Amino acid sequence: MVDMEHVTVYTASSVPAAASHPAINSLQWTEDGQLLFLTKIAVYILTPDLGVNCCSASEVATTQLKEGGPRANTLGWFRTVLELDRRSFHHWPSESQDWDSLVTGSLDVSIKSVVASPSFLSADAGCILAVITTNLELSLWGSVKNQLDGQWGQGIRLQDAVSLLRSLAVIRTDDRLQQTLQTQVVCSSWSRQPDFGAIPACICDGSLLAIGNRAGSILLLKFTAESGSDQCLEHVQTVDVSEQWITHLTWLPWTNAGENECVAMLVHCTSDGAVGLVKVTRKCHMESRGSEYGPGLVLETSVNRSQLSICKADDRIIMGLSFVETRDMEPIVVVLRPGVVQLWAEERDGSAWSGLLSFHLHSQGISSGSSMLYPPSGVVYSPEHDTLVLSLIDGSFHVIYDISSAPSSSLLGSTKIPYFSSGLSSISRRVFMHIEGDVITHAEMNRIYGMVSFGGFPMVNWAHERSLSSDFSYKHEARHSKTLVLTKIHAEDSDKVVLEMLADVIATAKACTIGTIAPGTAPIHTLRPILFRLVQGGVLTRLHSRFLQALRRSASESHLEIAIPPLIFTSSASPRPLFRTSIVRQLFGDDTLLRIRLKLAIADFCWRLSSSPENRNEFGTVARDLMSAISHRVLGILVQHIDFVAHLLTRDDLPFVLRVIIQCMLPGVPQELSVKAQRLADKVTAFFPPAGHETVSNGSRELCPACHVEVPLTDVTLATCSNGHRWPRCSVTSFILSTTKVQTCLGCARKALLPVARSRYEQESGTELSSGEGGSKLAVAGDSSSVGDSITENVRTIERGWIVQELLKAVRRCIFCGNNFAILV
Ligand SMILES: [Zn+2]
Ligand SMILES: [Zn+2]
Repeated sequence: MVDMEHVTVYTASSVPAAASHPAINSLQWTEDGQLLFLTKIAVYILTPDLGVNCCSASEVATTQLKEGGPRANTLGWFRTVLELDRRSFHHWPSESQDWDSLVTGSLDVSIKSVVASPSFLSADAGCILAVITTNLELSLWGSVKNQLDGQWGQGIRLQDAVSLLRSLAVIRTDDRLQQTLQTQVVCSSWSRQPDFGAIPACICDGSLLAIGNRAGSILLLKFTAESGSDQCLEHVQTVDVSEQWITHLTWLPWTNAGENECVAMLVHCTSDGAVGLVKVTRKCHMESRGSEYGPGLVLETSVNRSQLSICKADDRIIMGLSFVETRDMEPIVVVLRPGVVQLWAEERDGSAWSGLLSFHLHSQGISSGSSMLYPPSGVVYSPEHDTLVLSLIDGSFHVIYDISSAPSSSLLGSTKIPYFSSGLSSISRRVFMHIEGDVITHAEMNRIYGMVSFGGFPMVNWAHERSLSSDFSYKHEARHSKTLVLTKIHAEDSDKVVLEMLADVIATAKACTIGTIAPGTAPIHTLRPILFRLVQGGVLTRLHSRFLQALRRSASESHLEIAIPPLIFTSSASPRPLFRTSIVRQLFGDDTLLRIRLKLAIADFCWRLSSSPENRNEFGTVARDLMSAISHRVLGILVQHIDFVAHLLTRDDLPFVLRVIIQCMLPGVPQELSVKAQRLADKVTAFFPPAGHETVSNGSRELCPACHVEVPLTDVTLATCSNGHRWPRCSVTSFILSTTKVQTCLGCARKALLPVARSRYEQESGTELSSGEGGSKLAVAGDSSSVGDSITENVRTIERGWIVQELLKAVRRCIFCGNNFAILV
């Protein structure tokens, strides 16, 4: 039963902003582990500080709870904001004077919706955001430098899509009005990454951005990172589905439909109340040249208008569209209308129910203005109890039970479900009263804008605002303030839950609570539910030995025999993309490596958190062992790849190649790896016989940037010269970091050199130059630099080798913990 006496609040942070249009995704998580909060003129981007170690605590937005009442362990959040530039909008009447193309939202332009792409897409391997304004314009945004508190809002609007959409519309029709309607974007949804079933997973972008326009068509677009800086969207297909506006879109998850083929349903609503489906198929073809999933990869898209229709036009307004993935992973579509929830499931063999079911909501009466007709503000599914939990703007909660077997809005007979609609509504009211602290009258409404689970029910986030429902006086935007809340909405056995989650992560390298984790999801996102429960009082002390046992390296994780498909080079194509994509796939598409990384991140977290020195030491030992397991696997992948391209090496590559070999000879490295490295060393010596007095090992000499004494490579994290100067080493290349052009891992704070293209981008602050494949690139880098000191020279020498250049380009995430890098200076 709901504990009515106590409420637990972990975060209550004030956000000074007016609300956007009511929508169920006003609060949403990205695969980067960031919480997007949509307000009228800005998207707040919030990151819990769990597992983030690159920045000091002072940069964390502190939680402010009003005095009085019990407090739980509070959680810190990083905060940054993507602000809408309200000056730059498109003037529709200049295109068409027709009444049908009138946009009322252009009078006071605000943000209508935001959707996030899958992770691993932007230059810093994060998500891209697609924003639609009330002026029906679509634009794409990406973070620059630092996704936690960097400049999301400055000069990073990647593309204003209006011109692209207009050019597409002009091809399709001569009619001015139709052209305008086809350019006016109403809604969008970004698919997840399809998983073609390759092992290791192919790290290529197969996601699609679907947008719905006023002409009744859906456009499928794809993000193209490689093309120039002002055009990063490419048209894939257009499907005409209606004469009406497309008002809502949502992608259901991809399913594997045969070899190299994935299928997903795209659900769409139109302004006449109809809900339909479009079936999208993506097929993955290999071009004959190149290795599997190399640059020869081609994705083909086909679209079928499904014969299935969820519901016919009935002129009833639709306020929200979503879906839930039930325990057996069959998606159920959720259509939200005023006072009514509709569930739809496709007919399948063995499914308990199918078709469309409607449920009427009941007013909860938690404040005098409360009504079941308010717009919905969030939908959450609890796999543990098989329930759908819905919140409305009036602060009320509504539960539908037994979603996958026999959906029902009333709790019949005795069940183990510890919550019900009125209980959750009353908890939300109590949390509101607890945070606001003052005497709250029944006339005051706890409006809820956006509700989302925090790594699984019963932890939920919402944003509430105090409002007097009978007060119709105007309140200036600046006087609005929301409170972002993280609370536990019913009791749980944290010990049991966290152990189950840990077992699940280790068994599958995927987290149970958030559904299937696509390759590329940031580990801080995957691990958040576990780390959050660990910081709760006493959990880690009680579970110390269970965690220690679970995190130890298993036999399969020690196994170093990795079968890497050989790279097949042709004389016509550059070997570089092939080399790079194969490395990316081996480093970031492999489940075992991901599992070790997740274990290391948890062990490291436990090490920091443990109170007693003995417990700390034990986690320290486990973490060190996992770290060397990662490092040996990475070296194995590098040795193998360098071996593939041994005949293409140049003298400029020798410093790096030799230090890879030296690292494989260090004490503690498995024999099999040392043997392979020796074979590679012999091969390299044969290609580049030492000339005159120099020996091969001379190529790996490294001088202390301060005193020019030679520094031996004995420690891969730190370089110490005989005069005691200490320098950090690059976690990717092991070179001494004597430059400010470095990136820092958000998770473990390890540093790495910036790839040439990105460091030039930073330098020229804004215009990224296309990175050529030849050696001329370096000359350009040299010319454009105004810094001529020996330190930069040192870095340039390193970058002269193409292997290092491609490796730095390939490693867009930390190789040890798999999280994103940030540029902190
Ligand atoms: Zn020195
Ligand atoms: Zn890291």
